[in-house]
Amino acid sequence: MLKAHIAWEGLAQNVIEWRRQMHRHPELSHTEYWTTQFLYKTLSSFPNIDVLTPAPTGVIGILKGNLPGKTIAFRADIDALPVLEKNETTYSSEYAGVMHACGHDAHSAMLLGVASILSEYQDQLKGNIIFIFQRGEEMSPGGAKELVESGVLDQVDMFFGLHLLPALESGVIQIKKGIATANRDTFNIKISGKGGHSSMPHLSIDPTVAAADVVMALQTIVAREIDPRDSAVISVCSLLSGDGTTARLPDEATLCGTTRTFTADVRAHIKEAMERVCTYTSKSHRCTADVKFDEWDYSAIINDPDLCDLAAQAAKDYLGDAFFCFTESPMSVGEDFSEYQAIAPVCFAWLGVAQPSTENPPLHNACFAPDEAAFIHGVKYSIALAEMLVM
Ligand SMILES: [Zn+2]
Ligand SMILES: [Zn+2]
Repeated sequence: MLKAHIAWEGLAQNVIEWRRQMHRHPELSHTEYWTTQFLYKTLSSFPNIDVLTPAPTGVIGILKGNLPGKTIAFRADIDALPVLEKNETTYSSEYAGVMHACGHDAHSAMLLGVASILSEYQDQLKGNIIFIFQRGEEMSPGGAKELVESGVLDQVDMFFGLHLLPALESGVIQIKKGIATANRDTFNIKISGKGGHSSMPHLSIDPTVAAADVVMALQTIVAREIDPRDSAVISVCSLLSGDGTTARLPDEATLCGTTRTFTADVRAHIKEAMERVCTYTSKSHRCTADVKFDEWDYSAIINDPDLCDLAAQAAKDYLGDAFFCFTESPMSVGEDFSEYQAIAPVCFAWLGVAQPSTENPPLHNACFAPDEAAFIHGVKYSIALAEMLVM
């Protein structure tokens, strides 16, 4: 086994150091210029890897084996979020208002770690390994779609993704077979009435009251129309109406938010029901509603069961049985890793990064602080997969 020949401690230190450098320089979706340069330079310093930049930001590394075999791809995402970091460390974000609050810095650092090792074993490779450092995961339409459409990944036989999870014990790999994440849709609703003097509401058509009613009515869709054995989320995240004055009723109100569903049927039902509920609830207040869904939203990841079994074996081989588990519950997050399903089967896993005896704020929180000791487990898991599949 490769396992016995790798200097894991030094590698773990490298991964933590790469992650901290990226953590200091977080960049928003589709503007990851510093990150791209950093990844390009680091990846190019490893032997045998062809480094490509098929999109304006993001990097792809290709390690071609000398012997024929399958092509496997590992995907990391590279973008950060518009969050003002509250952690005070020596490697806190240097860009005010931008933070790696979803752990994509760690995903990229772990994948650099994997590439740094596997690039030394080209002569034993039966097939090819592609390292994807994908831009723009956090913002629709996402960077995966353009990579799929570019054709650069057409030869890939299977895709593997790994994401940090602060709710899971540090170092544990967790996989959900089949539906693993949610369909993520975003909506925008405009409710139109007629503005006027706030002392004479009978001469106006008040969109604020209609909007308030719509927010409540939308919640009845999940409660009353969705089979209790299925699940769904409708979250109104913003409601804008009026401009802060108290003398005037506004002409319109706007709401926006997101839905999460796990099957195509429920996804379609929710969209139809939202149109209906918004239209008729608004109508009952003499208003009109215009409901729009973003056309670029993400579909659910459907993990291939056979790949999941291979991944479980790989994790157990390198980490031991205690550090792997299957789960029955999909996550309600949206992930554009699902785009790669258009090319080949996929397996998306979670890596636990819960710090022992701390609160462990969730992903996207300004205090998100993963346990760095877990990162080497992510590296080991991916190297184990490569050894199993193409070595
Ligand atoms: Zn995220
Ligand atoms: Zn993420």
